[in-house]
Amino acid sequence: MSIQERYTGAVMNTFGPPALALTRGKGAHVWDADGKEYVDLLAGIAVNALGHAHPAIVEAVTTQLSTLGHVSNFFATEPQVALAERLLALLGWADGRVFFSNSGTEANEAALKLTRRTGRTRLVAAEGSFHGRTMGALALTSKSAYREPFEPLPGEVSFVPYDDVAALEAAVDDTVAAVVLEPVQGEAGVVVPSPGYLAAAQQVARDAGALFWLDEVQTGIGRTGAWFAHELVEGVEPDLVTLAKGLGGGIPIGATVARGAAATLLQPGNHGTTFGGNPVACAAALAVLDTIEADGLLEAVRDRGDQLARLLTDQTGVVDVTGAGLMRGAELDGPYAVEAVAAARDAGFILNATGPSRLRFVPPLVITSADLDALGAALPAILDAARTAAARSDTETTR
Ligand SMILES: *Cc1c(COP(=O)(O)O)cnc(C)c1O
Repeated sequence: MSIQERYTGAVMNTFGPPALALTRGKGAHVWDADGKEYVDLLAGIAVNALGHAHPAIVEAVTTQLSTLGHVSNFFATEPQVALAERLLALLGWADGRVFFSNSGTEANEAALKLTRRTGRTRLVAAEGSFHGRTMGALALTSKSAYREPFEPLPGEVSFVPYDDVAALEAAVDDTVAAVVLEPVQGEAGVVVPSPGYLAAAQQVARDAGALFWLDEVQTGIGRTGAWFAHELVEGVEPDLVTLAKGLGGGIPIGATVARGAAATLLQPGNHGTTFGGNPVACAAALAVLDTIEADGLLEAVRDRGDQLARLLTDQTGVVDVTGAGLMRGAELDGPYAVEAVAAARDAGFILNATGPSRLRFVPPLVITSADLDALGAALPAILDAARTAAARSDTETTR
């Protein structure tokens, strides 16, 4: 039996049938069970910052695991403390503190609990937001298909249209604990707000005495060409930042980082985790940060990101290209994004659709110019095949 057939018989069907069974990867390339090679423009959903099997991560994880693999939070380890110090230095938060967990949703869960310690219980989030699937993070996630089967969700959360300052002003008062936003909405399809929005949102939060919390789970750790996407916007300095995806380069880790008064809201007994801050995961994250710095990857992300944006803009059928660095959305002139993902797979490229007419590109930060050239050369035929497939299934459903 194939891996995919065994999957169906053994793994809960929460994701639908897997498109492929993958067996190995190197850099921005992966191979499936039949030995077919793909250029990976999804990177495990913006996770594999250094691509697959990067020697720096392999070395860091192997060395740490063969020295000290796990100790629990009854004890401190060098990698955990070094990673916390490193994140605070990158943020420039001398008075900051870090809580480590194992995923994006957990990073947000910790942040949500932290906001409760302000004595306020209301939160304001944005329409189109995605903050994770555990109950607290889900309460902050706007998509009704994700929420409704699990209501009632905890908390008192108001949703306002993204990129609408007036709506925020109307929703935020002195009963609000925090305003939570993604600097660029990832799961919504790489939605970028107007230049002044984040700074204005921060001001609205400050004026009401609420915390300003940016979910950088997808945008953080070099994805947009800066360490954190909020650095791309003048005057934005959140009180809380949540990180995960790219941080561990494929090893699960999440981080909740707070500064100033917010950094001491969680006190002994308020929150906990068995695995969070595990030295192996922290060593992997340190290797990611070291490599981004040593290899000049922020600059590479900006260059490759420009190349990617250009090649997408040049495609017939692409009507809008959004994003920054290596986080890009492409709006198609019709609902054939799902067919494009399938056609790309046939052509040896792993793409991702966030909606019927929207593609998202979040490749490894180490993707080469040659790989992007290959994508540019292959896309016209991929999009053509997708249009044809969509038209055919359209006639079939009409018949
Ligand atoms: C992916 C994502 C999450 C959830 O991360 P998980 O590791 O899947 O729990 C939260 N926030 C944002 C912005 C994300 O993109």
